[in-house]
Amino acid sequence: MEIKVFKFGGASVRDAEQIKNVGKIMSGEGSNKITLIVSAMGKTTNALEKVVSSYINQDEEVRSILESIKRDHFAIAAELFEDPSDVLALINDLFVEIEWILDDEVHDGYDYLYDQIVSIGELVSSHILNSYFNSIGVKSTWLDIRDILITDEAYREAKVNWDITAEKVKAVIPSILEENDVVVTQGFIGSTQENNTTTLGREGSDYSAGILSYCLDAHSMHIWKDVPGVLSADPAQFNNVTHIERLSYKEAVEMTYYGAKVIHPKTIKPLQNKSIPMYVRPFNDPLSSGTLIADDTGISYPPVIVIEPNQCLLHISTNDFSFVAEYHLSMLFDLLAKHRIKVNMMRNTAISFTISINHDDRKIKSLLEGLSSEFKVIIDNNLELITIRHYTLDVLKSMKKGKVILLEERLKDTVRMVVRDVPLMTRK
Ligand code: ASP
Ligand code: MG
Repeated sequence: MEIKVFKFGGASVRDAEQIKNVGKIMSGEGSNKITLIVSAMGKTTNALEKVVSSYINQDEEVRSILESIKRDHFAIAAELFEDPSDVLALINDLFVEIEWILDDEVHDGYDYLYDQIVSIGELVSSHILNSYFNSIGVKSTWLDIRDILITDEAYREAKVNWDITAEKVKAVIPSILEENDVVVTQGFIGSTQENNTTTLGREGSDYSAGILSYCLDAHSMHIWKDVPGVLSADPAQFNNVTHIERLSYKEAVEMTYYGAKVIHPKTIKPLQNKSIPMYVRPFNDPLSSGTLIADDTGISYPPVIVIEPNQCLLHISTNDFSFVAEYHLSMLFDLLAKHRIKVNMMRNTAISFTISINHDDRKIKSLLEGLSSEFKVIIDNNLELITIRHYTLDVLKSMKKGKVILLEERLKDTVRMVVRDVPLMTRK
């Protein structure tokens, strides 16, 4: 059976009008067999994250945050359905699961609670979407992805158990699609073998689509987004960006590794392993070709710029001024791995070791505690990491304007630099 995998992100289902647009796209697919992965609606995941932290901090506002999330979902359902009572009951039951947690004292860890609460966003959006499809005559069935996408117990950053997942995906999805045209299921979430809900990391729905595409040997994978396709830079930050029509898997992996937000970095590898073509397509212009990510055909690329904001540089030296050598580095990297801190850039000099990491107060605090016995650490905050692929000297020059460069690395076709803004002095 030829199966296409579609992924719709939060923006494409943020309100009733957008959901109707998704309905139109799906009607246009006729009897094509589609597995559809959906994210939580709009900014729901951020709002649910607030529920988690308010609950853990025992803030009083926790109930009102949850109430407003519920209200938004109910309002959208009311706009989509003539008789929304069935859908309202379904989504109410899901929100009740959060209320039960909130009724209790906090006795589980942050990461575990996070996954149990935040995952409701995807469960709700997928129910609304599936019910809407049925109301407009698209033959679709809702599937709980936690029955087939099995992970370890690393809450908030769960790793997929590929063998079990592949077996379950193959056993479940094709047979549902014998009778139906569409399976609607959730991105971002999975389950441990003990049936505890897990999540794959923020923006993980793309990766979910990649996992299912791989396990299904999909015909193709389609990520529907609010941009025309993959662009040479974020149009919110740059003028005159170029639309890239075709990318190799390798280039896409590099771009996302350096922080391009267009696709989750883990998405591409499973597709590349099976040469499954992937399309990034604009949901408001379904006929346009978007961007195709596929095998390399000697494509040449324009300069591509990726900006990672909120960087901090940690300058780490030993307390006794001895060299930072293998023994120290292995200790340091053990700590980084333990706290799941990703090193975006690094440099070793005689007496110090410098790393650029994303600013995350909780993680940095625990790292510093671990380092304090052996190391002295100086921190530079409020920095940006700029990556330029396929750079030209002109682009380099313009990116350096008004910046102090604290760390720079130049490879064959990539320049990376950690910078701070300097106010440009002009003569009076
Ligand atoms: N809803 C999740 C998030 O906002 C997953 C996703 O959108 O990909 O991170
Ligand atoms: Mg999203």
